[in-house]
Amino acid sequence: MAKQIQAVRGMNDCVPGDTQVWQKVESILRETVASYGYQEIRFPIVESTDLFKRSIGEVTDIVEKEMYTFEDRNGDSLTLRPEGTAVCVRAGNQNGLLYNQEQRLWYMGPMFRHERPQKGRYRQFHQFGLEVFGFETADIDAEVIILTARLWQAFGISEHVRLELNSLGSNEARAQYRDALVAFLEQNIDALDEDSKRRMHTNPLRVLDSKNPDVQAILVNAPKLSEHLDEESQQHFANLCERLDAAGIEYQVNEKLVRGLDYYNRTVFEWVTESLGAQGTVCAGGRYDGLVEQLGGKATPAVGFAMGMERLVLLLQELNCVGEIRRTSDVYIAAMGDAASIQAPVIAEKLRALVPGIRIIVHAGGGNFKKQLKRADKSDAVYALIIGESELENNQVTVKHLREHQEQQTLDLDQAAELLKGLV
Ligand code: ATP
Ligand code: MG
Repeated sequence: MAKQIQAVRGMNDCVPGDTQVWQKVESILRETVASYGYQEIRFPIVESTDLFKRSIGEVTDIVEKEMYTFEDRNGDSLTLRPEGTAVCVRAGNQNGLLYNQEQRLWYMGPMFRHERPQKGRYRQFHQFGLEVFGFETADIDAEVIILTARLWQAFGISEHVRLELNSLGSNEARAQYRDALVAFLEQNIDALDEDSKRRMHTNPLRVLDSKNPDVQAILVNAPKLSEHLDEESQQHFANLCERLDAAGIEYQVNEKLVRGLDYYNRTVFEWVTESLGAQGTVCAGGRYDGLVEQLGGKATPAVGFAMGMERLVLLLQELNCVGEIRRTSDVYIAAMGDAASIQAPVIAEKLRALVPGIRIIVHAGGGNFKKQLKRADKSDAVYALIIGESELENNQVTVKHLREHQEQQTLDLDQAAELLKGLV
């Protein structure tokens, strides 16, 4: 046999069984955001490399080492999208969705980052995200967070995720803080690891993010971002907290939460879980008031988040919260004889019309009656509908219960349809 070609490392297939879980997750996500009036936006998977360099920031993990960047046949530098926010802003600008407008948008799809694959971290992964444009006030930050809390409720995992919150303040406040932080880091330079030393000058706030316990120990005495917040950002944050309190949403203010991307200001948040090991952030987001303008649009405030769908699915599986999955088939049609075999799909069509949503498999591939019933048993179906000569003549079907001991019964098609309605 020829040697099989394997998938690219860190890029996974999603096969039947798994796809059912994903479809369920996707539909809960879709329905929940629709209940807040959000609309779907779809954009390409490949974009100009410049888009990500200009938005995410040159000195971030993503742009420095994680992007799948290549030259196409014209010599243009293209990149497989590592995240959705920049693309959403690009698409919003290009399609005139953002100019003097308010938008509540969501997207879902694959993202690509060249990272070390491990549980909850892949090279092709999927994000569900939403982005809201045109609102400056903290009511919308609160709405976005309340919406995520409702998602956890819908998935039955509220007890297992916790919200961390911080404010990065205005760009000016952040710049001031950056100076203070760099001064502090310089005084403690000997205690820093290589990564932190490198980031100290390029992206010092990221040092706060360090996973190294020695670095974290030093940071206990670092100047605090909250002490540098501008008045307006303080009020904005206080208003957000008040709204979350009113909505009964618990949070922890984490002063070290800075997020890895350059474009955030004011509100940043993460939903984290202890149930997934090191890859504990399920959903992360914040405000990015400068990005629309930075990408060539008219200055437009914005806030959003992205959720790692693999992590969400893992969490649901880990916590046994996947819930019921719809049967892949309700009915299996077996036919005895050539004439019945030709009529079987015709009868199936009639039943599909009479019973919207019913899932019917019509036996294919020939074989005797015993083989057909074996297939029926192997399927998910609750009933086998048997069509033989006499059934054909009388426009009837014989219903055999596959999952419990019950007499089989021969019914008119209409009666059968009534019975099948109970399965949908
Ligand atoms: P991390 O700190 O885990 O690397 P991040 O800060 O790089 O996350 P974001 O860019 O904020 O992540 O993306 C939002 C969410 O997308 C993350 O919280 C996570 O759930 C998910 N995510 C990010 N990178 C990956 C990946 N390589 N594989 C699977 N999920 C991912
Ligand atoms: Mg990352």
